[in-house]
Amino acid sequence: MLRRNLLSGFVAAGTLSSLPGPEQQPVTAGGVFLERPLAGQPHQGKVLLGLQAHSDDIALEASGTVAKLIEEGYTGYLVRATNDDMGDSPGLGTAGTIGENVLGNERDTARIAELLGCRRHFDLNYSNHRMADVSLNELICRLILIIRLVKADTVVCWDPWAHDEENPDHYTLAKAVEAACWMAGRPHDYPEQFAAGLEPKEVQDKYYFARRPEITRVVDISKQIEKKVEVNRANVAKGPGGHLGSRLRAELAKRNQRLPLLGDDDATADRNYIREFVMTSSRELGRQYGVEYAEAFHYIPPGAAGADRDPRVDTYVREQAVPLK
Ligand SMILES: [Zn+2]
Repeated sequence: MLRRNLLSGFVAAGTLSSLPGPEQQPVTAGGVFLERPLAGQPHQGKVLLGLQAHSDDIALEASGTVAKLIEEGYTGYLVRATNDDMGDSPGLGTAGTIGENVLGNERDTARIAELLGCRRHFDLNYSNHRMADVSLNELICRLILIIRLVKADTVVCWDPWAHDEENPDHYTLAKAVEAACWMAGRPHDYPEQFAAGLEPKEVQDKYYFARRPEITRVVDISKQIEKKVEVNRANVAKGPGGHLGSRLRAELAKRNQRLPLLGDDDATADRNYIREFVMTSSRELGRQYGVEYAEAFHYIPPGAAGADRDPRVDTYVREQAVPLK
């Protein structure tokens, strides 16, 4: 459900030096936290793990937020769970053979990780649309290893608790991520990984996206919109970005027509097409929250239910602890 009522006092993003700190960020009347741009690199030293089932998931749903968090200091990593072999490849301009699908989406993922500023990416290569009977324990174990290896603090992924999800790869990955985030911090799970040099690492917070999300956080991605356009331009095999703009421009030219929107060269046509048609939902969501472009999340904060220690204990200790006699 989208919350439309805003508290008064929203202002357009200011200059970088006047950007708010995390504690000054506005909350809408519906209780939705509006995450605005932060000054400097407050997330320096933290690690972000983006996890997607398919090459286009994060590009479409959360690439503005991943780009924002990396720009604000996170070290980023990207995981793709499938090999996209059954993914449609409209961007190839043909039906695409299975081999073409795999190769095209693999290349796109590598380019998208690079554009987002990720340090590296991992392809787990499960079969596309076949993750429903992948061993959940195997997948959880693989994810725990990656979380411990990169020392992930924050994840961005499909929401395991969302509605209207029909793709088994999305909810299977999401379920495994939810478990792995918690189990990776436990000293008794998969102790052989510690013998190999890894250490327990519990993920602190989660940005979950979904087709019909329970929205608790909206991220202002206005500053990152050109990067999101570029990421979706790299989403060539799957689309709906890629080269659809330049193809439409060529198609019109054959009929002696042109669209001013598509400009005078292919790159401009691709970018303007994506900004106009693929970024529609980001733009409409932004409008509802008083910013230009936005992405919506079911955000699980640090210390939420399931954490080993109630954050109120830490607050109490901070306020009440006295020196030993
Ligand atoms: Zn997908």
